[in-house]
Amino acid sequence: MFSKILIANRGEIACRIIGTCRRLGIATVVVYSEADADSLAVEMADEAVFIGPPPAAQSYLDADKIVAACRETGAEAVHPGFGFLSENAAFAQRLADEGIVFIGPNPGAISAMGDKIESKRFAAKAGVSTVPGHVGEIADVAEAVRISEEIGYPVMIKASAGGGGKGIRVAWSRKDVEEGFPAVRAEAKASFGDDRIFIEKFIESPRHIEIQVLGDKHGNVVHLFERECSIQRRNQKVIEEAPSPLLDEATRAAMGAQAVALAKAVGYDSAGTVEFVAGQDKSFFFLEMNTRLQVEHPVTELITGIDLVEQMIRVAAGEKLSFAQNDLSIDGWAIESRIYAEDPYRGFLPSIGRLVRYSPPEEGSTPDGARVRNDAGVREGDEISMFYDPMISKLSTWAPTRDQAIDAMAAALERFHIEGLGHNVPFLAGVMDQDRFRSGKLSTNYIKDEFPEGFHGLAPDEFQRDVMTAVACAMHRVLSRRANPKATRDEWIVVGAGEPRRVQLAEAGGALRIAFPDTPGEGLLLDEIDWRPGRPVFAGRLGAQPFAAAAAPLGEGFRIRHRAASAHVLVLTPRSAELHAKLPPKKAADTAKLILSPMPGLVVSLDVVPGQEVKAGEQVAVVEAMKMQNIIRAERDGKVKATGPQPGDPVAADDVLVELA
Ligand code: ADP
Ligand code: ADP
Ligand code: MG
Repeated sequence: MFSKILIANRGEIACRIIGTCRRLGIATVVVYSEADADSLAVEMADEAVFIGPPPAAQSYLDADKIVAACRETGAEAVHPGFGFLSENAAFAQRLADEGIVFIGPNPGAISAMGDKIESKRFAAKAGVSTVPGHVGEIADVAEAVRISEEIGYPVMIKASAGGGGKGIRVAWSRKDVEEGFPAVRAEAKASFGDDRIFIEKFIESPRHIEIQVLGDKHGNVVHLFERECSIQRRNQKVIEEAPSPLLDEATRAAMGAQAVALAKAVGYDSAGTVEFVAGQDKSFFFLEMNTRLQVEHPVTELITGIDLVEQMIRVAAGEKLSFAQNDLSIDGWAIESRIYAEDPYRGFLPSIGRLVRYSPPEEGSTPDGARVRNDAGVREGDEISMFYDPMISKLSTWAPTRDQAIDAMAAALERFHIEGLGHNVPFLAGVMDQDRFRSGKLSTNYIKDEFPEGFHGLAPDEFQRDVMTAVACAMHRVLSRRANPKATRDEWIVVGAGEPRRVQLAEAGGALRIAFPDTPGEGLLLDEIDWRPGRPVFAGRLGAQPFAAAAAPLGEGFRIRHRAASAHVLVLTPRSAELHAKLPPKKAADTAKLILSPMPGLVVSLDVVPGQEVKAGEQVAVVEAMKMQNIIRAERDGKVKATGPQPGDPVAADDVLVELA
């Protein structure tokens, strides 16, 4: 076994790997860029080596610096995590040449699977069902059209070297191919320096289901069942689970057998993932193999009890797998939510900044017999920078059944509190509350189907209206008593949590009883109150149901969010409620003339000048953050009156880029 491992990565995955190394008694080294000097990974590792400026090309992707750091610290092996150098065959080979162990598959397996055309050929030969289509390079538009028509529309045009959702385009017609083929080719050339393109059938409304495989250097390969990752935006995953609600035993066994056959055919000797698209009819087709640890590996660990990082380390050190396929089984159900620094209310655009508050739910067992795990690489006060992946953490829950795992996830998300930047916690909580998600009718179109106009929160249900009412009453009572200890009023009108409701409040021990004199019924009992002024989360129990809500006093009233439902709730005297009802609705500021930056970042280009006429939909600027270039378009026709920042300037969210006359 190794005595010291270097981790050529950052953030949560570096912390994750350190955790396993500690348990195994292996010393750890992390490398870090200037942007990560004060990171949790650097704090946790036994040693840390500085490797350069923030851009990955000058730090985390620089093989020379990684090798030098191994030499300097005496690390015998490198775990690459995911992203960065993890699927780089030349890097794996380089380490081998230097006598350093790469904790991942052999370079031959990486190159065989790194290319989509090659890997599809390989898969077909190994008896794996592949997406119908053309397995080979396509020369020009004429050939692309001919092949598309042979396959039958819709088809998917794909870059052989593509990855991370880039270099992919759907074509529904001949015209789409004529336009799309050159576009994908240009994007592939620019992003991957390789413009080989192939075309396959586009499976409509498919599910993304992948098989975790694990091999050793002695020819043994097992699979650790499947994960379903159908909840995606921009062809990238947000919610994953294991097992898949679609699969039955026979399909699971068939997919597992094909994945193992492919892994054996390429001499696979580490942890890896064989991705498939599956039809709702359980047909399935090979997509690609990822020759690394996968972001969503925790769900597999939770249902199998196997630590995949430990297994990668053991097989890299030459150990034989200590279990066979028959020793493995699925225990319960696990779900992972990726907590991203992105604004779900603005098309999931990245939202960088400081974690002014970062308070994750408690990890470990819950009173209901579920388990919570949070893989994070940040602490309160840390910055999510524009240089790397915008992930804050990965929240996973496990329970005996899928319904219970969803309940546990929803409860854990309630207790996840983040301030300082946009984050997708309300969105994730919203999905957990959707009947369609519960029913398991997933597809990669889920987000588009369910939120066609974008995500704007969900309307509160009856329980949530009660939560909002009760929380507002309790907060109002504490705050008004503070302001005036002699205040005695117990009767109020609550406005904003559904229809206005008259309430009568009474204290009962530490609890608050809320009666509704105008409606029959028992009213509400709010107890186990856990809140003090200044705290951003109000926890308690309403009836028998524990809950936590984000709650903040506003100038007037409170902003209360429970899961995906949010409202501005006021607790008023009957007289002020009457006045309030007569107020004209507030008008939003007229921003139609302003074109704003939807996210913080750098202005890459400003494509209009004062005096120029623009049409709705026309590109006016490009703003870049976190490797993503975002094209900003005019929302209406108009004449440019003024422009704001210039190329190279930093902008904050809502900064004015262009003003129309
Ligand atoms: P897939 O595994 O299907 O390719 P992922 O969402 O897991 O999709 O990852 C997409 C790409 O981005 C992969 O190359 C992965 O290694 C990389 N990646 C994802 N998340 C991170 C992260 N937090 N840090 C570094 N790289 C990441
Ligand atoms: P990447 O290397 O970017 O991860 P993949 O080939 O894994 O590329 O595809 C990414 C996503 O695009 C998949 O998870 C799936 O949602 C969708 N996709 C890819 N190929 C097809 C196809 N032939 N039909 C339908 N959807 C597809
Ligand atoms: Mg993929």
